[in-house]
Amino acid sequence: MTALELITLLSQAIYVVIFLFVGVRYLRAPTPAHLDMTVFFGILAFVVVEQRIATALGIVPPEWFTDTVIAAVIALPYILLRLVDDFTAVPRGVKRGAELLLIASIASAYVLPGPTLPPLYVLLIVGYIAGLSFYCGFRFFRAGLRAQGVTKRRMQAISLGTVLFALDILAAGIGGQMSEPWKTLLAAIGQVLGLAAAVSWFLGFAPPPILRRAWQAPALRQFLARAANLPRLPTTRDIVSELERGAAAATGSEARIGVWDDDILKIRFWPPSGEPTDVEPGRYFSGRAFEQQKTLFSAQPARDDPEAADTYRSANVGAIIATPITAGEKRLGVLVLYAVRPPIFAVSDAELSQLLADQAAVVLESRALIDHAARVRAREEATRLKEDFLSAAAHDLKTPLTTVVAQAQFLERKATRDPSAPSDLPGLQRIVREAQRLSALVTDLLDAARMEQGRLTSDREPVDLGALVSAVASRQRAGAHTVEVDVKGAVVGNYDGRRIEQLLENLIENANKYSPNATPVSVGVWQQDGEARIAVQDRGIGIPASDLPRIFERFSRASNVDDRRFHGMGLGLYICRGIVEEHGGRIWAESEIGKGSTFHVALPLSEERRLN
Ligand code: ADP
Repeated sequence: MTALELITLLSQAIYVVIFLFVGVRYLRAPTPAHLDMTVFFGILAFVVVEQRIATALGIVPPEWFTDTVIAAVIALPYILLRLVDDFTAVPRGVKRGAELLLIASIASAYVLPGPTLPPLYVLLIVGYIAGLSFYCGFRFFRAGLRAQGVTKRRMQAISLGTVLFALDILAAGIGGQMSEPWKTLLAAIGQVLGLAAAVSWFLGFAPPPILRRAWQAPALRQFLARAANLPRLPTTRDIVSELERGAAAATGSEARIGVWDDDILKIRFWPPSGEPTDVEPGRYFSGRAFEQQKTLFSAQPARDDPEAADTYRSANVGAIIATPITAGEKRLGVLVLYAVRPPIFAVSDAELSQLLADQAAVVLESRALIDHAARVRAREEATRLKEDFLSAAAHDLKTPLTTVVAQAQFLERKATRDPSAPSDLPGLQRIVREAQRLSALVTDLLDAARMEQGRLTSDREPVDLGALVSAVASRQRAGAHTVEVDVKGAVVGNYDGRRIEQLLENLIENANKYSPNATPVSVGVWQQDGEARIAVQDRGIGIPASDLPRIFERFSRASNVDDRRFHGMGLGLYICRGIVEEHGGRIWAESEIGKGSTFHVALPLSEERRLN
């Protein structure tokens, strides 16, 4: 056997293999595209096998048979055109023209007497087959440019195969009409081209799984790269739209993801705009794929799902692949891919869809786990806070309460023993002081609870901060500390006066409380950058830098305060922050341990003040 014969044998064997492959696929998924492929390679395989048998047995077939074989070969590029049409739209004019030429060519093949056909006729037929094949090759190439992933690669391979086939036909047709040595040379070139076309078509129409996976890899990698960070997006809806974008980019089609909602027992889809739509399991393609837990493909959605036929028609949906998104036993949702035309390669598209759905399952499942962990953490946190709260509140209420009870019992015993004795004023004053502390603690607790609901402050009215600071400071002067006030001009804003007073009292009381050496405390009020500013400065114990960020949190106390020396629950600054923030302002502290602290407050000024 010569090398050329081997090449011919090889290409012919490939045609037969492709025919068997696409034939089986057609039986499994009888779509128009699969039918066209089967017919195309069926003709090629038939011609090849028929010739081999005839040569081997030395049979000369009757003329009608040869004519039929020729007619079938002439029909090949037309079937290719139909394949192009299965994937993209071929203009009507081109289709009708190709059909007319086809009928004319086939009719003439029967009419003209055999066995040798007139050279002009042969050249015309060759021109028709090659021309139409070139056109198809070009259209496949264009479709490949628009497609993504595996489909793109397969389109490219088919486009190449089709162009090589056209060249093969040209070489064979022209060579047949020439004399030696051109005849042999062109025949040899034709055979090599034929083999190259067969290999390209094989890769395009029946790629081995390993190649398919390699072609899928880039699309998947891209999808995975995006998927890695998705579970941390703020909402499931954000994740779903990102997944949809990724799936659309990987498949070159429209992608929608429905997420199973356990509360309503439906699959929920969020369209890019508008209200979500809910689908019951078993309804439409999405519901059916979800219920049956298998990928569904339809090249005629309007026929296969009459209930939604109008929607498919108006949205120009020509093909659907619906794949369940499932993690282990857990049914999470469904991925639906929509295309204007049925993808030629429904099987590999369904494979890709399955891979994407698996990835989506991982992302959605991680999201569910993160949500679950957050809920558990929140519950633990709430429990911890409640425990903290109870122990802090119980502890802080207990101390003054013990004093009040003990002092009151002591006075009671004294009065019982000697009813005429003069009243014990210092003892009564202690009861009053401790009862006031108790009352202040309970007020703080109530305020903290109000703050949780964001309703700490109420009606606003113009308040002059300078006047308010002076009033609060003069009340505080009674203590061991001197409070210096420095007010720069009128600083007026619309505030809840009572709460701002509470804020100032808290800050000045803290400054006094945490400055045991009776050092002076100064309070400044001024305007800066269109804001009202207050600063309360002391030269007390200071706050460790590591504690500064959290002293405004609930029940938070700095590590340098000794509970026995400085009473407190750690609610004062928390309430201060609530008051300031409800007014749209900011509060922060600067401090140096052992040197003192400054608490800053910035509040919005009233409108007319800010303009000045
Ligand atoms: P409390 O005074 O009841 O502990 P606060 O919320 O008012 O609660 O203050 C929280 C913590 O911030 C205090 O425990 C203390 O550690 C620290 N702190 C507040 N003000 C000052 C200050 N002027 N100087 C030093 N530390 C302070």
